[in-house]
Amino acid sequence: MDKNKIMIDYLLKNNFIDERIAKAMEEIKREYFIEGPLKESSYIDLPLPIGFGQTISAPSIVGIMMKELDVKEGINVLEIGTGSGWQTALLGKLVGENGKVFSIERIKELAEKARQRISEIKIKNIVIKTGDGTQGWPENAPYDRIIVSASAPEIPKPLLEQLKNGGKMIIPIGVSYWQDLILVEKDGTGKIRMKNLLPVMFVPLVGKFGYPEMEKN
Ligand code: SAM
Repeated sequence: MDKNKIMIDYLLKNNFIDERIAKAMEEIKREYFIEGPLKESSYIDLPLPIGFGQTISAPSIVGIMMKELDVKEGINVLEIGTGSGWQTALLGKLVGENGKVFSIERIKELAEKARQRISEIKIKNIVIKTGDGTQGWPENAPYDRIIVSASAPEIPKPLLEQLKNGGKMIIPIGVSYWQDLILVEKDGTGKIRMKNLLPVMFVPLVGKFGYPEMEKN
């Protein structure tokens, strides 16, 4: 049986994704974003290495984050931590032709690879740049949705500022590998409400409003 279909059925059955996300996952296969012998493991529900000490997130976590964020057609989304580009491509499908995804990756080589993959599969509503995502991307703000795929000590202030009134952000917050996935909602008046969704484990968000870079020996 098709391994991607088994994965999608599992995610649907457990309510981690809805039908729209399932359809996007059918079209954008995770194996395309994984290289070498690890391709074999693409449909296991685990994060996998993508080089430079980084990972592609587990399918259930990618699914839960996009579902909780309620990514509608026609909106604009800011993603911090492009990584392999799998979630970026899925977001591109979910927002559709009239929506836009802006994605920031701090490691140049990963950003380039993700850009190349996304251009090969001809998704045209995504822009990826290399940089420090903790500072957001003010030129395209405000955003309907912000999705952060690395864990921060606290919510970076620029991201809160760049979120639209009525918008939502999802971000792992915590110290070291003890983190909670937080859904942040900004109401029509700009008031913030936060909901703790579940414990998670992400690589650190490194930057001006995140963790400092570790010194290389
Ligand atoms: N969702 C991604 C995927 O599907 O492949 C996985 C993202 S990975 C868990 C987190 C990524 O965040 C890494 O590629 C890391 O380099 C990046 N990152 C960490 N700090 C960052 C920052 N300040 N700005 C942009 N990207 C950052």
